[in-house]
Amino acid sequence: MRVTREVACCCDTLRLKLSGEQVMNAGCSCVNCKRRIGRAYRWQCYFPETLVAEPVGNIRVYASEARSGRVERSFRAAGGGTVFGRAAVFLGVVGIAGSCLPNDSFVVPTAAASDQGRCAWVAFPDGVGSV
Ligand SMILES: [Zn+2]
Repeated sequence: MRVTREVACCCDTLRLKLSGEQVMNAGCSCVNCKRRIGRAYRWQCYFPETLVAEPVGNIRVYASEARSGRVERSFRAAGGGTVFGRAAVFLGVVGIAGSCLPNDSFVVPTAAASDQGRCAWVAFPDGVGSV
């Protein structure tokens, strides 16, 4: 049986449902992510697009060009916190902000992106590979 989860922003006005399991789970330490979210690194879980339902809520999209190509970040119009996004480099996959998933989704990251930007006091578990 496929697990169904509901993703929500901090005030529950932007929601989406997804089913199944993530295909990748990564922390990103690039400057863009750190500035955007105000944390030492961003945690993102990636699900196949076919498992993610159409979101509900007033959504805005911020699009930019990253080193890896076009990136779109979707957030609640009134609040600003990114809930999900898409990147040209990951076609067919939706990235969900890890902190917007229910607690049973919190699994150990499988990758550390832009690890050269990682703050010295941030440590990912042994076996987490750099991408
Ligand atoms: Zn990043």
